[in-house]
Amino acid sequence: MKFGGTSVGDGVRMRHVAELAKEYRDRGNEIVLVTSALGGITDALLKNACEASETGKTSSVNEFIADLKEKHHKAAREAINSTEILENVNAEIDLRIEELEKALIGICYLGELTMRSVDYISSYGERLAAPILCGSLQSLGVSSRSFTGGEAGIVTTDEYGNAKPLDVTYSLVKERLEPLLNECIPVVCGFIAENEAGIITTLGRGGSDFTASIIGAALKANEIWLWKEVDGIMTTDPAIVPEARPIPVISYIEAMELSYFGAKVLHPRAIEPAIRHRIPVRVKNTFHPELAGTLVVKDEKKSRDIVKAVTVIKKVALINISGAGMVGTIGVAARVFTTLANAGVNIVMISQGSSEANISIVVDEAHLDKAVKAIKAEFKNGIIREVTQDRNIAVVAVVGAGMANTPGVAGRVFGALGSAQVNVIMISQGSSQHNISFAVSEETAKKAVEVLHREFGLEHQK
Ligand code: ADP
Ligand code: ASP
Ligand code: MG
Repeated sequence: MKFGGTSVGDGVRMRHVAELAKEYRDRGNEIVLVTSALGGITDALLKNACEASETGKTSSVNEFIADLKEKHHKAAREAINSTEILENVNAEIDLRIEELEKALIGICYLGELTMRSVDYISSYGERLAAPILCGSLQSLGVSSRSFTGGEAGIVTTDEYGNAKPLDVTYSLVKERLEPLLNECIPVVCGFIAENEAGIITTLGRGGSDFTASIIGAALKANEIWLWKEVDGIMTTDPAIVPEARPIPVISYIEAMELSYFGAKVLHPRAIEPAIRHRIPVRVKNTFHPELAGTLVVKDEKKSRDIVKAVTVIKKVALINISGAGMVGTIGVAARVFTTLANAGVNIVMISQGSSEANISIVVDEAHLDKAVKAIKAEFKNGIIREVTQDRNIAVVAVVGAGMANTPGVAGRVFGALGSAQVNVIMISQGSSQHNISFAVSEETAKKAVEVLHREFGLEHQK
């Protein structure tokens, strides 16, 4: 069971989480808990680390540290009602916070922030949260131990900020956690892990979903439960369309497509480990545990709803590459994509018309400048005549396995958009036919989502 940042947002909520876990354990389940940082803490750590490196102001670090300490002590007080346990937890918090302060002051003096230091600093959110949740369980009379990701056995590549688990992880986690399951509830820090040299890495923002899935796969758990502040995986982001409804059952592939296409509800890799052993994943609302939530499974019987959900990706940009010289020239696309890969550019979507005179690529907005620079450098002379860019873009995707081999879905999508006067800039459909995605200007993205949500009747209760 993983609990997200809002679920463990303060001490009272942590206590609720501990009670919930106890309740499931008392019903005869063996449980591992994975915790996020308290809501907002990871963002605050990252912001402070950047400021420290830019301004070098140690006084701001001191202020931040005092505030962080106060927040976590308060959470511990609220979550733990045993003086002895509270003292131990507070001592651990103080120790961690001292280390963090030293690191931030070091960054002030150095005036630089490497990817490795970013991971180190951001790891403190989870490292401060886990001991509190563990203490809260203990104070309810449940035996518990807390672990960092590395201590639990998650060993990753060196890709700081976006590390991936190495295969050895699965046997290590099993070896370390399995023997404890009948005697206690292990509490593991989500999001963070270690590389082979024992240096802290992170699995990417929202990575505690991934941690839970890795641990679930390693232990061959019966189910992996991701507890959040929403009623499940919804038909679209409820923050954009209030009529969004929870999806009762969805397939692994659909859930992955949704998370690739911007549905912030799941970490994009969170489903991969679950697939290894076909472990069902449940997404539930911490604040409404009585609701069924969403069940993510291998095969979803072809349901009547062709379209399951609509998502939107913001902060992306469009690059258009054109030139008559591209027509019939073999290897242009390969060169474009190799160049972008070497420049470390994340590609969101691609489309090439059969005239071959034009390739359109959507990339993360943060990667736009380096992407354009790399393409221009690669094609200095010839073939490509023009490279244009547009930052004012959002990608909307319509997802559902039922779309495969169902004629007319694209017609309905673009018909509805046309009637609503939404201009479509670029279109792409993978041959898996599990999604249709398209780019629109940023201002029209919300309208596009609303229109399609209504067109496919997603607002109706299932
Ligand atoms: P966690 O507590 O695990 O970090 P998140 O906050 O990452 O949970 O995930 C829930 C958030 O994802 C919600 O605030 C919601 O606005 C957003 N979201 C975007 N798309 C969807 C979707 N299709 N279904 C549910 N939530 C979504
Ligand atoms: N705390 C991390 C983040 O905010 C990981 C997570 O919550 O899943 O990204
Ligand atoms: Mg998240």
